[in-house]
Amino acid sequence: MPNCDRFGLCQYQTNKLVRIHSVRLGCLKWSLNGVILVFICMVMLWNRRYQEFDLVVSSVTTKVKGVALTPLPGVGDVIWDVVDYSGPSQGKNSFFVVTNVIVTKNQKQGKCPEVPRKDRLCGTDKDCEKGAWDQQSHGIQTGSCVKFDVMKKTCEVSAWCPIEIRTSPPRPALLSAAENFTVLIKNNVRFPAFSFSRRNILPHMSDGYLKTCQRGRDALCPIFRLGDVVREAGETFSDMAVEGGVIGILIEWDCNLDWLMHSCRPKYSFRRLDEKESNRTLYPGLNFRFAKYNTENGTEERTLYKAFGIRFDVMVFGQAGKFSFIQLIIYIGSTLSYYALTTLFLDWLIESRCYAAEVGQTYSEKKVESVQDSQQCILCVSYVDEKKLRLVKKSQKKSLQDMKAVSVQPRKVSVFQDDAAHQKAVVCLLQPDVGSHEDAQPPLHRKPDTNRRPRRPAWCKCNCCSSSSLPQEQLCCRWSDGVCITSSALFQQLVLHRSLLEAILLYQDPLSCPAGGVQATALRHCAYRQYISWRFGLPADGAHPVIPSCCVWRIREEYPSPDGQYRGFTATGPDGEL
Ligand code: ZN
Ligand code: ZN
Repeated sequence: MPNCDRFGLCQYQTNKLVRIHSVRLGCLKWSLNGVILVFICMVMLWNRRYQEFDLVVSSVTTKVKGVALTPLPGVGDVIWDVVDYSGPSQGKNSFFVVTNVIVTKNQKQGKCPEVPRKDRLCGTDKDCEKGAWDQQSHGIQTGSCVKFDVMKKTCEVSAWCPIEIRTSPPRPALLSAAENFTVLIKNNVRFPAFSFSRRNILPHMSDGYLKTCQRGRDALCPIFRLGDVVREAGETFSDMAVEGGVIGILIEWDCNLDWLMHSCRPKYSFRRLDEKESNRTLYPGLNFRFAKYNTENGTEERTLYKAFGIRFDVMVFGQAGKFSFIQLIIYIGSTLSYYALTTLFLDWLIESRCYAAEVGQTYSEKKVESVQDSQQCILCVSYVDEKKLRLVKKSQKKSLQDMKAVSVQPRKVSVFQDDAAHQKAVVCLLQPDVGSHEDAQPPLHRKPDTNRRPRRPAWCKCNCCSSSSLPQEQLCCRWSDGVCITSSALFQQLVLHRSLLEAILLYQDPLSCPAGGVQATALRHCAYRQYISWRFGLPADGAHPVIPSCCVWRIREEYPSPDGQYRGFTATGPDGEL
């Protein structure tokens, strides 16, 4: 099925996991997951994330009650009832209460002097223009200049006379008794998605209850004293009554329509809506004018009222929630990613130096498989005077000895442990033969064969290396000056010993060569492999081990090529295939 394979239809790929047997990490994982689970559950219950919600649709009606006896200047004591102080309707969901008033009685159509102000004073009729008016004037000028009082003369106007003279509201407010008025707010709400209706006069509230209830004692009482409303909004009624203002009555519904936790009650709060501070300067408060008309002796008269007062705006908002299986599934799905935080934290922990040092493990090596780009050749170098292996980039110009390490890593022997143990056994077996073997010479007495090699190069530290034109072959067995590794007894026994090499070759391929007939090339390559296995163990993935020049030449001396030709270093090792 070539097509099937090509499009990946017949494949399933899954992630490879690393399992770490650790009580500590296991406990930590489940503790963190537990904390996350508790957090998720708390958020779910607190915010009712398992519910679907619907917004409120509402209607509001209000009824203000109260009567006050007020002495009005020029009028006398007047009884104010709901019709007087409510003023004209202020629109949907709001009501108005007059708290202060300027009354101008018995106005008739006629001619009278304009109220004196800086630019309205006049000396003669020439100062007054017939038919003129502006935004501030109370009527249309007739063109005459007349006496306003003993001192001042103003232009005469055709207007409702006498003209309203007072401009600032009386202090204290004439109708500050409105503080004790009450308002009944009726609010019907509906949540269309659940076909659920409710009103703020709850089922348990009887007529008797409504007549006596007070907000101070029962927060659900739908009857409010205006003084309390203004106080809860953070204002003083007597101050606000002078020039008026706007107060918001906020009704919040947060309904839980689930059977077990059913609750649906209003919550009232109050706030001043017009800006108090800006009121102090320009056009403060709230006022408007209205008039009451009557006919006296066939002449129409009116009483003009400039009313200051407080407008109360009722605002309703809220939502209702009901259990929804779909919402619950969506919420659970959206929280699953939080568990990745545990993985993130534990991964960070096991890769952090502190934890790795404490448990003596570096999990990151097991967790991450690094693959080298084939374009970049990484060489692995082992010095006899350094414990760790160096990874070095291959360079075409610089000698390998002088290259800086890309990274340093410990020598890994795990995979070769069996092999090493095997070698050890072989060495032990051969030990008695070492002295009597004709090839074996006392290692420390051996001097490098300087005749066959060129002069010692500058990069050599052990004094046994040979110069080479290839930078990747310019490597010594040491990082700092000292004795060469080829002079060690172990080099003699592990790398050069003919009987050992023959035994290894025979071990690997028992039928390959009859005794004594093993070729020098095979022995030389086997010696290279022995050296790498001894000095490098298992080098990092993709890194090629490099045998120092002194060792290569020592092995070549021992097992020379018949024609004296060597292939030199390749990516796989000296002399080609290892
Ligand atoms: Zn050297
Ligand atoms: Zn050396």
